[in-house]
Amino acid sequence: MAFLPRFSRSNFCRPHFLRFLQSSTLNFHTRAPSHHEYVNHQKGRSLLPWLSSLPIAVAVALSAGAYALNLEKTHSLCEPDRGHSLGGKGSTELVVQGYHKDVPLELINELRTICNGNISLDYDERFLHGTPQNSFHKAVNFPDVIVYPSSEVEVSKIVRACNKHKVPIVPYGGATSIEGHTLSPHGGVCIDMSTMKRVKSLHVEDMDVVVEPGIGWMELNEYLKPYGLFFPLDPGPGATIGGMCATRCSGSLAVRYGTMRDNVINLQVVLADGDIVRTASRARKSAAGYDLTRLMIGSEGTLGVITEVTLRLQKLPEHSVVAMCNFKTIKDAADVSIATMHSGIQVSRVELLDEVQIRAINIANEKNLPEVPTLLFEFIGTEAYTREQTLLVEKIVREHDGTNFVFVETPEAKTELWKIRKEALWACFAMAPDYEAMITDVCVPLSRLAECISKTKALLDASSLLWYIEKLLVKDSFIV
Ligand SMILES: Cc1cc2nc3c(=O)[nH]c(=O)nc-3n(C[C@H](O)[C@H](O)[C@H](O)COP(=O)(O)OP(=O)(O)OC[C@H]3O[C@@H](n4cnc5c(N)ncnc54)[C@H](O)[C@@H]3O)c2cc1C
Repeated sequence: MAFLPRFSRSNFCRPHFLRFLQSSTLNFHTRAPSHHEYVNHQKGRSLLPWLSSLPIAVAVALSAGAYALNLEKTHSLCEPDRGHSLGGKGSTELVVQGYHKDVPLELINELRTICNGNISLDYDERFLHGTPQNSFHKAVNFPDVIVYPSSEVEVSKIVRACNKHKVPIVPYGGATSIEGHTLSPHGGVCIDMSTMKRVKSLHVEDMDVVVEPGIGWMELNEYLKPYGLFFPLDPGPGATIGGMCATRCSGSLAVRYGTMRDNVINLQVVLADGDIVRTASRARKSAAGYDLTRLMIGSEGTLGVITEVTLRLQKLPEHSVVAMCNFKTIKDAADVSIATMHSGIQVSRVELLDEVQIRAINIANEKNLPEVPTLLFEFIGTEAYTREQTLLVEKIVREHDGTNFVFVETPEAKTELWKIRKEALWACFAMAPDYEAMITDVCVPLSRLAECISKTKALLDASSLLWYIEKLLVKDSFIV
């Protein structure tokens, strides 16, 4: 992740994010003399060469879930005098121009009737929905209308009406995606799924649950805890199950449990003409027909609106241990995670944090962690098994010049460590409040990890960006 000076969105930050920034009193300790010197040093240097190496990210923004047909290029409903920067000379913004046609009043009235009045034409609300908080991609247009459906039937009617008027739609979950997924480049209708968040049925014996898409993974896990079950995917705090399906997300436990692709049993989806389809059944294994579930998983809202999800659940582990250790270089840390994988040890999480991210964590959480490349591990199973695995990894760490190997077993200490880790993105904003984040992922096989990290580090060192690298192990690949 890299950071660049903020341009235009500060007035429209999500309220919790704003509160977070306002409550952070910052004292930035860098390798450079001081925070202010460092920030000023960064300002005014061109970031465009680096941006030009991100074609994939731009493509994602351009494909942000629009169903548009026959659109004429006209002015957006969004007022132009609100002081938004639209890119241009010297700007680092990646702005999607898009096409736009006015949404007919007839459609707006239809949507109001379908949703029993639960629609919004409010400017700030529309701006917020069309301006993803964690993304440096922007669009000239943003949604003209936001609808808040409360059932699958309502979603079907909304999509049918939009199809009739040839107005684009973009489904909207927790808005935690990081590469412009929730942009509305062509304006149109934003379908906010936040009011569809019921648990429809829980099957404890079959270890599965049927939910509406607007429920968050954190809320779901709170619901499941008394049953001794949990759902193992943990992307951004606030992410919804529908958005997680649409992005085929992973999470810190993906090394053990796989990604969303491996954990969704069945979907109900509203297609672009309003038809409702079921992709499979609750049976775990079926070889009959096309694998429509996997087609929908990762389709980023472009193939349909997910309205119901059946998820595979896991037993809450009997015991777990979280270990942490430090390295002189990020390559040493990467080598240890590779060696751990090769040793056959069954870790449930491995995450690498570089020194910049640790510094941000220290500042935001008033911690005093050593500001060097750090690996975080989690082992789950019986008490004896997790202790044994911990000792084996400690030996590997020592063999690679790792230091300060510590581990925690109390629930509070473990929760705190992972919470700090999950909130590291916001910690980085706290470290550099005048900056905006530019986030991207690459996914490489194990054998290319060290090379990927070294080359990325060399490129970023040569740039003017304030940057950090984090790494997450997902089954047999790494996300960096
Ligand atoms: C701090 C932080 C940590 C993160 N960690 C991870 C991680 O470890 N692994 C990972 O993979 N990601 C991670 N992410 C990214 C993000 O959390 C995931 O991409 C998540 O799956 C997005 O879910 P959402 O509900 O926020 O979706 P949104 O951002 O609202 O939408 C994402 C996409 O899904 C579509 N969509 C939403 N709902 C539906 C629906 N019901 N039907 C059809 N399409 C829909 C949208 O149109 C959009 O294209 C992280 C993000 C943050 C901020």
